[in-house]
Amino acid sequence: MSYRNKVAIIFTGGTISMKIDPRIHAAIPALTSEEIMAMVTNIEKFADIEIINFTNVPSPHITPDMMMDLSLLVNKTINRDDITGVVVTHGTDTLEETAYLLDLTVDSIKPVIIVGAMRNSSELGYDGSSNLSAAICTAISKNARSKGVLVVMNNEVNAASEVTKTNTLSLDTFKSPEFGPLGIVDNDEVIFYRDIVTKQHIDTQRLENKVALIKCAPGMESDIINFYIDNGYKGIVIEALGRGNIPPEMVQGIQRAINDNIPVVMVSRCPTGRVLDTYGYDGGGKHLRELGVIFGKNLPGQKARIKLMLILGMTKDLEIIKKIFED
Ligand code: ASP
Repeated sequence: MSYRNKVAIIFTGGTISMKIDPRIHAAIPALTSEEIMAMVTNIEKFADIEIINFTNVPSPHITPDMMMDLSLLVNKTINRDDITGVVVTHGTDTLEETAYLLDLTVDSIKPVIIVGAMRNSSELGYDGSSNLSAAICTAISKNARSKGVLVVMNNEVNAASEVTKTNTLSLDTFKSPEFGPLGIVDNDEVIFYRDIVTKQHIDTQRLENKVALIKCAPGMESDIINFYIDNGYKGIVIEALGRGNIPPEMVQGIQRAINDNIPVVMVSRCPTGRVLDTYGYDGGGKHLRELGVIFGKNLPGQKARIKLMLILGMTKDLEIIKKIFED
């Protein structure tokens, strides 16, 4: 008896399931998963497909709670004996956040692939079907095992922990600016050029929603930080300037948050590079380290926020939170 690969595809919506509504002349979710799969021609030669409908929404409508529910579903599905790999379709706007949340919470060596499209099915050159076939080929590739969650778009394979959306329109929008792609999909062949840099697992089934993300700019003060503290936020991520420095007027708010046992995680608004305690002036990294600010390495703010939400679902202990971010 010949062994057939079986891939479960979990549909969540996004441009890959959109077409232009003639009444409003704009794209909205409209395709069923069966209609999408009908455009992925010849895929039956490679794998049996099981369709799972999670939702059909644009990705700005996806909430962290929905991402957590999706994680539970992916964990359940990927751990079935009959499943070789799981593919998740998703809108590209928040794809990197869902991919990273799954990367931190799914516990399996089997491939989990996130895929989307930049052009909807009413546009010339809909990329949904080619992206989906590349994602399915990656999901059945032995080489894709033990690499964490992968994002497959435009025939490139990137690690969920490294990838970000870099362009509002280009098909080639998903990039790993720090380390480059892991590999490519060449027809049905998946070729890896390197391994993933790190892989972390956060053992939680719940997350904390009230985590703020604040981007620094010259002249900013503590008012926005005080607003979040006064409104019951449980964690704050600061996208700081350069190497990890903030305008001095923001220090008071940060100090207040830490005194209230609210973790403050700092990353940089620069697209690449780690934050470090290089500078000793007021609001410099050294000063922030002494206040108890947690350093989020080279994560972009949106991913540091997802990570802090998950950790806060598990513990409020500032020392443990610091250890998970910095070790
Ligand atoms: N706005 C769309 C979404 O994220 C974009 C896309 O899917 O490419 O749902």
